[in-house]
Amino acid sequence: MSRVLLTGASGFIASHVLELLLQRGYSVRFTVRSEEKAQRLLEAHKQYKDKLDYVLVKDIAQPGAFDEAVKSDPPFTGILNVASPFHLNVTDPKTELIDPAVNGTLGILGATKAFASTVRRIVITSSSAAIVDPNKPNNGAGYTYTENDWNPITLEEGLLNPSNGYRASKKLAEKAAWDFVEQERPNFDIATINPPLVLGPVKPYVSSLSSLNTSNERVLDFIQGKAKNGAPPSGVYIWVDVRDLALSHILALENLEAGGKRFFITEGYFSNQKIIDVIRENFPQFVAGLPEEDQPNGGYPQGLYKADNSRSKQLLGLTYRGLGVSVTDLVKSLVELGAGR
Ligand code: NDP
Repeated sequence: MSRVLLTGASGFIASHVLELLLQRGYSVRFTVRSEEKAQRLLEAHKQYKDKLDYVLVKDIAQPGAFDEAVKSDPPFTGILNVASPFHLNVTDPKTELIDPAVNGTLGILGATKAFASTVRRIVITSSSAAIVDPNKPNNGAGYTYTENDWNPITLEEGLLNPSNGYRASKKLAEKAAWDFVEQERPNFDIATINPPLVLGPVKPYVSSLSSLNTSNERVLDFIQGKAKNGAPPSGVYIWVDVRDLALSHILALENLEAGGKRFFITEGYFSNQKIIDVIRENFPQFVAGLPEEDQPNGGYPQGLYKADNSRSKQLLGLTYRGLGVSVTDLVKSLVELGAGR
């Protein structure tokens, strides 16, 4: 039986990774920031109680944050590092986004090298923000992004505003991870998972409407009528379902050939308009709050880059759910949390 460490298990994506790991027979230690979050996860997975334990890691930015978490008997063979801040309500991008992302990533790599010599692979949740350059002219029309691309954003640009800060946090953290492996030559290899906007159902034991994760917020806004006078531009135009993304983490952990590789995990294009169309078709109770036909509805820009997901399909064997299923399941989960009441 394989034993793995999963960081940030109270998050939207990691909660799906945790569920899949347990279903596949792994013994899992997870990290969260509070006792209350740990207890909610244990309660939700009672049937796996012999295979589940946790360590509190209150702030991944702190030196030595993971030193105890990586020590285990029986020992770990793999680690999935998902924890990293993803919210845009920050006043200081450096201390609130960039430092936790970079220090957290280097912290887990360093702790593993020092204290967990049995670990063979660390899968790191990076982002399409580490790949796509949002400043390419004409939205990158005519260009196809692959795992060979890096967003050119610098630390200085990352300090300018929260959304730059988030992009820089993901790019700099991932770069730091690859540099660590090259310079330190540890016993393990790494694989990075680079998703764009992630949509899909939220687990009721990690979410509430008031603390919904960042990437699903736009869908909650639509069903709460906040875009009635017009939907904003989509901002990002590629997406993936959280369940497919969770599976990609585990496939990247298990597949020998995945070591040393980045994986661009995306189903393809989406727009706010397409999300709104799915809600209009499937949830009559929310139609009155959606933008009128003559209002801006967040469609596609004129030119647009392409995204190549072929490595994820060929090497990991990943298949992708469509936007309709993902948005429908997300809205159902929001209704269960009380949306529309
Ligand atoms: P969530 O906000 O739901 O999850 C983030 C997790 O990281 C939470 O468990 C959070 O803990 C933990 N965390 C954040 N900062 C710290 C810190 N300083 N110390 C300890 N723990 C911390 O977001 P997602 O699930 O969406 O994101 C998970 C990962 O996926 C991140 O690495 C993110 O960058 C990446 N990603 C997400 C995308 C998306 O669209 N959702 C797209 C691309 C990449 P707590 O719950 O206690 O705050």
